[in-house]
Amino acid sequence: MKRESNSLRVVEASGPPSQLGFEVGSQCKDLAQQMLEQCQQELKQKYNIEWDRAKVIARKYLAFCQDSIPVYVEELQGYARGAKLSLDDVFTVLFNYYLGEKEKTWRGCTDFVVSANLTKEKHVLMAHNDDWDPKGADYLCVLKAKPQDAPAFITIADGGIFATVGLNSAGLGFGINGLSPNDTRVGIPIGLIARAVYGASTIVEALTYATLPHKQESDNNIVADKNGQIYDIEGSATDFELIYGIDGYVVHTNHYVTQKMRKYESDFRDDFNSIRRHMCSVCRYNRVRSLLRESEEISLQRVMEILRDHVNSPYSICRHVDETVEVGGYRPKTIFSSVVDLTAEEMWVCRGNPCSGEYHRYTL
Ligand SMILES: [Zn+2]
Repeated sequence: MKRESNSLRVVEASGPPSQLGFEVGSQCKDLAQQMLEQCQQELKQKYNIEWDRAKVIARKYLAFCQDSIPVYVEELQGYARGAKLSLDDVFTVLFNYYLGEKEKTWRGCTDFVVSANLTKEKHVLMAHNDDWDPKGADYLCVLKAKPQDAPAFITIADGGIFATVGLNSAGLGFGINGLSPNDTRVGIPIGLIARAVYGASTIVEALTYATLPHKQESDNNIVADKNGQIYDIEGSATDFELIYGIDGYVVHTNHYVTQKMRKYESDFRDDFNSIRRHMCSVCRYNRVRSLLRESEEISLQRVMEILRDHVNSPYSICRHVDETVEVGGYRPKTIFSSVVDLTAEEMWVCRGNPCSGEYHRYTL
């Protein structure tokens, strides 16, 4: 199959929070404006919520961020200034971006991490397929940030500012995949939790930031370092459980796997599409574990092959649109695929499905 060349916009920024945010916002004005318009339209069309009302709701959540992680609010303020928007606009997009994802009632992404002693290159490799609304692919950037007084980091960021997977100069890597906890509340949106984790210098700090109190809810977070320490954090708004990669690898998709956290799974059993979504997660989880166990040799190339796997298509690791189903107007697919090489301090990223695109290499 011919593979398309589909690299991402690279955004570079440095300095104290406000300046760093401003530099990103200045380079991503167009994306910030498009995300704002899409968010406004969706809230109106789907939920009949006017933008002014959405901003009032979002301010309750902003108050928690100003209390707990003011430095990242400053960064968003700078971004808003650079993009010629208000902080209210930017924060409400951030808040609704993730709330919207939840209300679409599907959550995606497949992640796995393999320690150096299991790989051909003797490198720690963190793999991620990002499954979401195909429109989300239009807003993706590679953010290379050098914050003042904190580790430099590189991440795939929506609109250049909403951090997802990546790595930092302290040798830490971060993976994220969606969960649907049933204990959501007013608190810090998960988009800012991901950003906070990039400020960590050790695994201990990363685990602490990933489990901050007063969260609105939680994704599943994975943190690993170049020494081969791998932790998966199955979180909800009010609780968490850690899985340590004692066998040298960790896999996670979009359902709780620990006994402690299963009680936080949103009830899905009365809805056919929700049951199928759960089974899609279970099958991707088991498929990755089988492929890792059965691989004669795990290398960077083999990891990319696993990310291109089509067993159970379209509900496969390389996720495609199911043309027969439309849930709330959204049809998830893999919008980007990435492999963080913690040992080489680089990230390989393919925009769109990895079966039809090339991975491009980005460094800190
Ligand atoms: Zn594919």
